Amino acid sequence: MANSIPLLQQAALVQDPGEHASIKLAHSIPVSNPGRHEVLVKLTCTGLCRSELRAVLAWGIYNSIIGHEGVGTVVKTGDEVPESLLGERVGVKWLYSACNECSVCKRGFPHNCAQQLNTGRHVPGTLQQYVITDARFLTHIPEGVADEIAAPLLCAGLTMVGALSKLDNELQAGDFIVISGSGGGLGHIGVQIAARMKNLRVIAVDSGEGKRALSLESGAEVFFDYRTEDVIARVHEYTGEGAHATIVVPGTEEALKMAPDLVRNMGFIVNVGLPRNDLRIPLSATLCTARGLTFIGSSVGTEDQLADLLKAAAAGKITPSIESFDFSDVPTLIEALKKDGITGRAVVTLPQ
Ligand SMILES: [Zn+2]
Ligand SMILES: [Zn+2]
Repeated sequence: MANSIPLLQQAALVQDPGEHASIKLAHSIPVSNPGRHEVLVKLTCTGLCRSELRAVLAWGIYNSIIGHEGVGTVVKTGDEVPESLLGERVGVKWLYSACNECSVCKRGFPHNCAQQLNTGRHVPGTLQQYVITDARFLTHIPEGVADEIAAPLLCAGLTMVGALSKLDNELQAGDFIVISGSGGGLGHIGVQIAARMKNLRVIAVDSGEGKRALSLESGAEVFFDYRTEDVIARVHEYTGEGAHATIVVPGTEEALKMAPDLVRNMGFIVNVGLPRNDLRIPLSATLCTARGLTFIGSSVGTEDQLADLLKAAAAGKITPSIESFDFSDVPTLIEALKKDGITGRAVVTLPQ
């Protein structure tokens, strides 16, 4: 198998990150060799997360090859990786590696490790034909889940299952949860997990007919359009006292500002959005105290949560809505992401 690995490959590169960034498709990027604990994965596809805009807009320092929802096959193993991994179908996700030594890692949350390395940030991402990943942190894709279905679960799905897990001890089946951004890549999978795996009553908030349809198909019992309706009033009419919790997906000040008014007293606000680093949470300290509100930040989730999610996908319970794009579409796709113009998840097919 190693013989058929080329020396050079195609990759999409972010150029001049910032307001005038562009994506260049390159044809002669070297294929790397896996280090001791690493494997080389030949990718078939990758999902494209809206958080990639942080790299494009230079809201932080990222690798010029972005992407962290890749699916493919192991074609080469490092010295300390069992060769039995060769030919295995795997997922390459945001968490590239963690220290495994700190108190957070030891508690079982390596994705919150302060020393973690991330795919598309510290190491090249999945918008290329071949990617290097750390074998100790890769995800095995079970049979019965197609590559393009598995891809969006690696970040979008994992983020939502991780966020909902924060409420496992707080909410009961039948409780109300508002998911804002319900028709996007993360949101609609979150609606499915909340409704079909957690038995919560989902109130979906987004805008437009496409996102309404996807939110309702995904299991939301009602949809409110934030552009045309008074969402806070509608949520209160619908629930009586307000929802038990809300998950804020869009990284916008408006969505964060609205969150405390959507929940009842002692409610929970879980934020998964990633706005500019300087955006502060617009939450009244007094109201937070007086009403007993809890604000929780949540980033991706655990490998066990991802395994459960992939199992649910294999059983047909979780069905990400994807829009497939060709590799040559990547430059324009980034523009569509900027305008929030994608319903469901964009998945890019890589040249084979
Ligand atoms: Zn992501
Ligand atoms: Zn650690």
